[in-house]
Amino acid sequence: MPYPPRHIQPPRRRSRLKRRIKIWIARIIFFLLLLLALVGLYHLAGIFFTNFFLEAQAQSGESTAWIEEDTPDQESIVVAIDPGHGGSDHGSEGIYFYEDEMTWRTANLLLEMMEQDGRFEPFLTITQAQWEDESTREKPSERADLIQNQQTDLLLSIHGNSDYSPDTYGFECFPVPPGLAYHEESQRFAEIIAGLFGQDGQKLRGNNGVRYLYYDENDNKLLVESGSLQLSGSPTFTLLEDSGCPAVLSEQCFITNAGDVDRYGDEDGCQRAAEIYYQAICEYFGLDTLV
Ligand SMILES: [Zn+2]
Repeated sequence: MPYPPRHIQPPRRRSRLKRRIKIWIARIIFFLLLLLALVGLYHLAGIFFTNFFLEAQAQSGESTAWIEEDTPDQESIVVAIDPGHGGSDHGSEGIYFYEDEMTWRTANLLLEMMEQDGRFEPFLTITQAQWEDESTREKPSERADLIQNQQTDLLLSIHGNSDYSPDTYGFECFPVPPGLAYHEESQRFAEIIAGLFGQDGQKLRGNNGVRYLYYDENDNKLLVESGSLQLSGSPTFTLLEDSGCPAVLSEQCFITNAGDVDRYGDEDGCQRAAEIYYQAICEYFGLDTLV
């Protein structure tokens, strides 16, 4: 009996090959499905977490700025320091110097401290050239325009007080009074400044060293104590009224009183006053002092 030809494969080996091919196809399909499932899951998870965080942020009232990678740095605080008078206007005459000498010195010491601090963008309302120029003066309305244009957050105007009697002394300051924009913030700033001068041992004039100044129809000055609504809405110092920001005019000391000059008017005194102003500005913005 003849044997079957050699080249024909036995049926058993053929079916084993088919089964192997089937297994490989199944494996490939399985891996492809697994890959698809993983990609799908990844996308679903992404959508879920993004929505979750957006909702959480919306509920807490926060902005969604975290999505943007390049959020701009927090802007620094713009503070205007006004050295009262200067130029052809020397202010009142003290026992040792004119008012504008003291305001210029104090303003520059304060400017230096605030620049050293680094968190502020301080500026003076007049330049050295303007301060020295005897032929003209920078009017309060011109200073107010400059302050408005700088988008200022806070204004401190520095002055020296005077009286016919050499015995009059003490500290007082004037915020934007009631009935005008920025009154409340100005009042808070004034109370901080007066409080610090009081803590330093200085006598506070009036109730607490904070007073309102108004002008009547004839441009007479009228003084009203802090907290009173009498004359509310009447005109006050142009600089306070027109600078478009919280503002205080500070009468640092009586330059006509020897004790006051010794405390806050001479060189050491200006330094001491500048330190108080710096501390008050930090406190107003809820910051610790760094200098
Ligand atoms: Zn003055």
